[in-house]
Amino acid sequence: MWDEPKIRCLRCERTLPQKGKGYCGGCYNTIFRLEYEKVRKVKREFNLDYREYLERTKVCASCGFTKVVHLHHLDLNHKNNDPSNFAPLCPNCHAMIHNLQFYKEVRNNLEKAGYRLPEIITKNFSEKVDDTPTSKG
Ligand SMILES: [Zn+2]
Ligand SMILES: [Zn+2]
Ligand SMILES: [Zn+2]
Repeated sequence: MWDEPKIRCLRCERTLPQKGKGYCGGCYNTIFRLEYEKVRKVKREFNLDYREYLERTKVCASCGFTKVVHLHHLDLNHKNNDPSNFAPLCPNCHAMIHNLQFYKEVRNNLEKAGYRLPEIITKNFSEKVDDTPTSKG
């Protein structure tokens, strides 16, 4: 009987048959389903291809942070997916711009960086800051 070749899974580190790319079946499904979900979420929420999304989220336009960067809708309208309505913000600056107490600081930085911001629509301020694909693990 042919013995299925086993690998040490890159994620869970168990020795199991390989599903693909160095992962066991369970890990492979988890990782690539998450990737797929991210791609779909970006398309749905920003009408961007994932590659474009990555291009647009390299560096926070307010503070220059590069490790985790969200995409923010400048007019706070999540349905306005015109590219001029997007600004990359790190989670910290993103939380601040959605906070009535702190938004001015981030807003000033964005204006200095050349972004044109519409007048503040305060009723939309308290919306959840979640316009980025979740990346757990
Ligand atoms: Zn695994
Ligand atoms: Zn920032
Ligand atoms: Zn936002």
